[in-house]
Amino acid sequence: MSAGQSSGRYEAVIVGAGFGGIGAAIQLKRMGYENFVVLDREDDLGGTWHVNHYPGLAVDVPTTTYSYFFEPNPNWSRLFSTGTEIKQYAAHVADKYDVRRHMRFNTSVEGAQWDEDAKLWRVALAGGETITTRYLITATGFLSQPHTPDIPGIGDFAGRIIHTADWDDDYDPTGRRIAVIGTGATAVQLIPELAKTAAELTVYQRTPIWVVPKIDFRISERVKRLFRRVPLTQRLVRLITDALYEFFVYVGLHHRQLVYRRLNIAASDLAKIHRFLSVRDPELRRKLTPDYDFGCKRPTFSNDYYRVFTKPHVHLQTSGIEHIEADAIVANDGTRTPIDTLVLATGFDLWEANFPAIEVIGRNGRNLGKWWRDTRFQAYQGMTIPEFPNYLSLASPFAFLGLNFFNTMEYQMRHMDRLFGELKRRGATTFEVTEEANKRYRDRMSELGARSVWAVGNCAGSRSYYFDPTGEATLLRPMSTRAALKEASRFPLTDYQFS
Ligand code: NAP
Repeated sequence: MSAGQSSGRYEAVIVGAGFGGIGAAIQLKRMGYENFVVLDREDDLGGTWHVNHYPGLAVDVPTTTYSYFFEPNPNWSRLFSTGTEIKQYAAHVADKYDVRRHMRFNTSVEGAQWDEDAKLWRVALAGGETITTRYLITATGFLSQPHTPDIPGIGDFAGRIIHTADWDDDYDPTGRRIAVIGTGATAVQLIPELAKTAAELTVYQRTPIWVVPKIDFRISERVKRLFRRVPLTQRLVRLITDALYEFFVYVGLHHRQLVYRRLNIAASDLAKIHRFLSVRDPELRRKLTPDYDFGCKRPTFSNDYYRVFTKPHVHLQTSGIEHIEADAIVANDGTRTPIDTLVLATGFDLWEANFPAIEVIGRNGRNLGKWWRDTRFQAYQGMTIPEFPNYLSLASPFAFLGLNFFNTMEYQMRHMDRLFGELKRRGATTFEVTEEANKRYRDRMSELGARSVWAVGNCAGSRSYYFDPTGEATLLRPMSTRAALKEASRFPLTDYQFS
């Protein structure tokens, strides 16, 4: 970290103005904090929903469930809303709860270091400025560092290269010869859109993905009016979609070894039937069939994805990429495909670049990234780490509850409430989780995780980002939302030291 000039002294600094940072900011205000800043390297709020705007972008959780618990949105236009609407929702929440004025955009954070004598964090910004804060909260998301594959010759390609996380809205695919690398959740949404007007579209698949049908529909004005006038009706609908999702994630994925294994198999059967009805060519179907269990990596919803490969101008290439030339891709089977656009739907560097997203150095010089790699990926309740006083890391190992980010956010806000409430009650200014509490939580998560599809399922061929470099699925908190919310409101206060 460069020393640079020093400016700004805050009670709290939040890094990231996505839904995580917005939620943390709202929680700080609820607890009476006003002197805080939310820093974001982008030029607007919304995080992933600001950065991603590729064609076809939509949420893959029903929007009846996709909102903060305290701020239902009666205006969603569809069951699975578009990225634009979700970004609008983020802006609405930030304005309504008056957190936008705390935000500072185009500001990259390089790192943060705990100053034990002054009992504060020194936060280094790109450009040399350093700000200080009593509390540091990183809300940098899990998927924020785009991955660019290191394929031989990619640097020589003379046409357009577009990463899905850096989409050019002026790009017109009409009549283009496009290659898409990747078949993750993003590609599943994007490919059918590009295929509508592209002259030729070749998809380079390394690992097939599970795709189930998407039951999507417009939400009528009458229903929206009902939601606005009688909010309880919307709460009831949410209760149902929450319960269905929760049932599937918790029972079908977390408890793989029990009788509920059947539910997981039923989901893969659904995807199989969907594939069978969409694609008549058995060889094409075989190529699109995953060889790992449903749920090992995030399954997707689409009614168009499988069918698009039956169109004459859409091709599936599965032999791997040998190299890229100035105007073509050469596959391992020798096929040379001339292209003018290379679309990288290659996802994000997660474990390499996101844990943590900035350099964080705690007490006694403990470097968080190094410590995680030298020991294990771990964080108490997916939020706090020993030797890192006054630090909340919202995008931590064992933090993410599963399919719906807002469930994770809700328990994290409740945890903040209890933690800062106790801090105030004691008249203290510093908190730090104990080594013992952290170890207890980590061991419990490993134990619970041992029953999940990620531990006992066949996930070897999935190349899923749920798994850390050691092979353990530490991205996920293997428990129900209900249990996590309960823990957030009741965790033993003795798990922290206050001073
Ligand atoms: P992803 O799931 O990580 O998929 C990346 C794809 O690129 C994979 O198919 C991967 O193949 C492929 N790839 C990467 N490097 C490659 C290489 N060198 N050669 C060939 N193929 C390569 O990323 P994503 O599709 O962007 O999705 C990430 C996550 O974002 C999703 O899991 C989901 O959680 C979220 N998402 C959410 C929504 C939403 O609606 N809420 C929409 C889109 C995405 P391998 O599998 O073989 O590595």
